[in-house]
Amino acid sequence: MCVVRDDCVQEMRWCALRALLLALVLGTQACGPGRGAGRRRGPRKLTPLVFKQHVPNVSENTLTASGLTEGRIDRNNTRFRDLVPNYNQDIIFKDEEGTGADRLMTQRCKEKLNTLAISVMNQWPGVRLRVTEGWDEEGHHAADSLHYEGRAVDVTTSDRDRSKYGMLARLAVEAGFDWVYYESRAHIHCSVKSESSDAAKYGGCFSGENIVQTSIGKRKMSELQIGERVLAVETSTNRLVYSEVLMFLDWDPLQRRDFLKFDLASGKTITLTATHLLVTRNRNISEIVFAKTLTIGNSVIVYNTDGNQFEDTIVKVTRVIRTGVFAPLTSTGTIIVNDVLVSCYAIVNSHSLAHWVFAPVRLISSTRDNLSRIWDLLIYPFKEWSINAISETNYPSRGVHWYAKTLYQIAESFIPWHILHN
Ligand SMILES: [Zn+2]
Repeated sequence: MCVVRDDCVQEMRWCALRALLLALVLGTQACGPGRGAGRRRGPRKLTPLVFKQHVPNVSENTLTASGLTEGRIDRNNTRFRDLVPNYNQDIIFKDEEGTGADRLMTQRCKEKLNTLAISVMNQWPGVRLRVTEGWDEEGHHAADSLHYEGRAVDVTTSDRDRSKYGMLARLAVEAGFDWVYYESRAHIHCSVKSESSDAAKYGGCFSGENIVQTSIGKRKMSELQIGERVLAVETSTNRLVYSEVLMFLDWDPLQRRDFLKFDLASGKTITLTATHLLVTRNRNISEIVFAKTLTIGNSVIVYNTDGNQFEDTIVKVTRVIRTGVFAPLTSTGTIIVNDVLVSCYAIVNSHSLAHWVFAPVRLISSTRDNLSRIWDLLIYPFKEWSINAISETNYPSRGVHWYAKTLYQIAESFIPWHILHN
């Protein structure tokens, strides 16, 4: 848990504002990054990596490299079906285990490896790419190795000419591996982000079965739409209000993801991703923290039916997999989910900073509402204004909203690491 000083936040706000304006002016992120986006292409001299060098120059599990480990995959694990075999004839698989495990990898890893195989043949005619280690189900690597998830491969050239390995590593960088390491004289280690990396990176969400209270009744999170008004807390006054859903930071009914399910002493539960922010209270002091920092014995704030809040103690925390991810952004930046008070934000461990960065969304929304009201008054002067009118098609498009991506990308560049989910 980290406490952010006001002056620190103030400074970061200015940094974020400048970067945000720059991003908006340049329009660079309007469509979000695609696979391999950001890699420089074209004819230029390739520099071999030197022994023990890694690219990018950050540790493997940081967000700008291959990201966090998501836990080992074994053959009985549901995530095992995420691994795909690679039968590329241009790649030699050492397969010293004799199980075919080295051929198993995530789709992203497979794509990068196949690209690298072509680069190797172009660079050294007659030489092929050789994989000495892929998915590891036998525990031969360090505890947090990405080999256990099919997200890492160790490679050499087929002629095992060690003088080529520095350039092999460079080719792996160019092929789009998210982290490449000249790990040993005998091989190059390459790894990739998880399949749901955008989601894992930017998304902090609720699962679809969570219930919210709208101004016209209870609704599953998966059925909530833009424009509906949901029960939330106005942070300046600490009052319960119905707050408009301005957008979804992430909305994808088909995506499978890991969630944390908290069972509370009152019998209530809430299921959300590990990097989502929620309010905890200890000895009358409230704090907004990542869900993953909470454990049995911590308290969250719950509202009962008459609108009074009380502290509810966590009695059980379970890791569950659910299909469907939803992250509504309300104008207050908070939302009551299954009667529990939570923030709308994730990843950036500062609710106030995140809420400030989304101010333009609130501004645009209120301007749009005002214009629309004026228009309605002009066109239909006697029409009764209905605050709950919702169009039939107010579901967003699937995936992480570009504005949310921009925020989190800016956050990565400008905000000290300790404030980011890391
Ligand atoms: Zn390795």
